Amino acid sequence: MRKQVIVIGGGIAGLSAAIYAGRSGFDVTLCEQHSIVGGMCTSWRRKGYLFEGAIHWLTGSSPKTQVYQMWKETGALDDTVKIYLHDIFRSIEWEGKILNLYRSIDTTAEHLLVLSPADEKEIRRLVKRVKTFTRLEMPVMDIQGVKARNPKPMPLGYILKALPAIIILARLGKLSCTDYCNRFQHPGIRKLLACIPGDFSASSILFTLATLNMGDGGYPEGGSLAMTARMAETFKNLGGKLLLNTEVKKVVIENGAVTGVQLENEILPANAVIVTQETIAALDRLFDTPLHDAWLRELRETTKLIACTYISMGVRAELPETIPEWQLDEPIRYADTKITEIGFGTYARYAGYAPGGCAALTTALMGDTWHFWKKAKEEGRYDEEKRALAEQISRAFCRKYPQAEGNIEVMDIATPLTYERYAGAYHGSWMTLMEPGHKMAQAYPGFAQDVHGLYFAGHRIIPPGGHPAALASGRRAAQMVCRQFDAVFV
Ligand SMILES: Cc1cc2nc3c(=O)[nH]c(=O)nc-3n(C[C@H](O)[C@H](O)[C@H](O)COP(=O)(O)OP(=O)(O)OC[C@H]3O[C@@H](n4cnc5c(N)ncnc54)[C@H](O)[C@@H]3O)c2cc1C
Repeated sequence: MRKQVIVIGGGIAGLSAAIYAGRSGFDVTLCEQHSIVGGMCTSWRRKGYLFEGAIHWLTGSSPKTQVYQMWKETGALDDTVKIYLHDIFRSIEWEGKILNLYRSIDTTAEHLLVLSPADEKEIRRLVKRVKTFTRLEMPVMDIQGVKARNPKPMPLGYILKALPAIIILARLGKLSCTDYCNRFQHPGIRKLLACIPGDFSASSILFTLATLNMGDGGYPEGGSLAMTARMAETFKNLGGKLLLNTEVKKVVIENGAVTGVQLENEILPANAVIVTQETIAALDRLFDTPLHDAWLRELRETTKLIACTYISMGVRAELPETIPEWQLDEPIRYADTKITEIGFGTYARYAGYAPGGCAALTTALMGDTWHFWKKAKEEGRYDEEKRALAEQISRAFCRKYPQAEGNIEVMDIATPLTYERYAGAYHGSWMTLMEPGHKMAQAYPGFAQDVHGLYFAGHRIIPPGGHPAALASGRRAAQMVCRQFDAVFV
């Protein structure tokens, strides 16, 4: 009889784990608490608008990368999926000028040199570093001891190729993004390069610019909804059982081994369980007896959360294709935070995102504001606070784009509480903050030492998380299951 594997959660990690385990010959059931798969990687429709909720740029969208192979193997991408690669990645207004970060680092450098010849030395250094990082793509490898049909050992020469980037990481790794940006004299350049929050490690800026420069980080047509739907189809075509609207209440453990999962009214038996619910929340909710693994304790105690309040706006007005970040004449205040500049992603150029002559806009107000929203909810002020924030945002937007006045048809605010409810994630967090000095891309072990057959995947397991990390973590968990049952990983 085929061994039974249960995957908890149908986000990117769960879909990936389920597909790879299914293809490797296991009888896989995927339990997803919602009516659709995708988890944080989702989009939503309101009044004819489609708001992209997660994929702003997708690492591994370029067929030249190793991560692309995983997207392809899971059915997320293939040759028929159009990938949009826009030349401009980020725009800001600076003293009446528009400053752009281009996909090509050489074009960015030309633009910045005109703006600030005094920064020439630092600009040229930036170009060199980004080009060095361009060679440091995320490798896809097998775990130790797994039998794989198409083995992927550490690519020969990877370390050698990566060495120059590793040296830069050692030099810059201890700097924050703010420290790094402050090396430039021109305040506009400092702002423009701050495409990543200031408290992240400076290496995040270089990784981001390198991803774009290598022709990666595109936007797949149809975005998050379409991509995760394709993954679900791949899973079902492999014979996998997808149980939607099915929340797992507990992992059942007997005599040091998993035996199944507890649903509302039944127990599903299993030989192995892969937990992809956000790890901290899963530890709190899915286990009657605490797990004692040191790595789980470390993850719980040291993880710095990335979360946001996400604004979606549907506007019946002609707006520019790119809405550069601008300085607000009146700051937006919420959650003890003062927002002094704001920019929006627009989806005007993609078919089907907004009715004719309209635009679907989104922006993420970054920050862990869970406590603020939680208190507001407890005190019955939640909707009022959301309304107050919505009014400030509409006012700011209409001051800048008067054609939007009276034409904002949708204003939707997702708070960390929304993400917590929607994906079952601790404090609604969807990635991990990599502070200066972090150890790069070091994955947690992902299995429970004292419980046979219990594995973990998800964005928290390979910091800093995001779609490629979630994808890789699912593949890795499936390999661990193969190793447990001496099966060949396909
Ligand atoms: C606003 C925003 C912007 C983002 N931008 C980017 C970006 O540009 N690039 C990037 O790489 N990443 C981005 N991310 C992050 C990325 O979306 C996530 O890191 C990734 O999707 C996490 O996938 P996951 O499978 O690990 O977790 P999740 O997506 O959280 O999946 C967990 C799944 O488990 C289900 N679940 C939870 N508990 C249970 C249970 N008990 N029983 C059954 N089902 C359960 C949930 O419903 C969910 O479907 C963004 C995220 C957000 C919110």
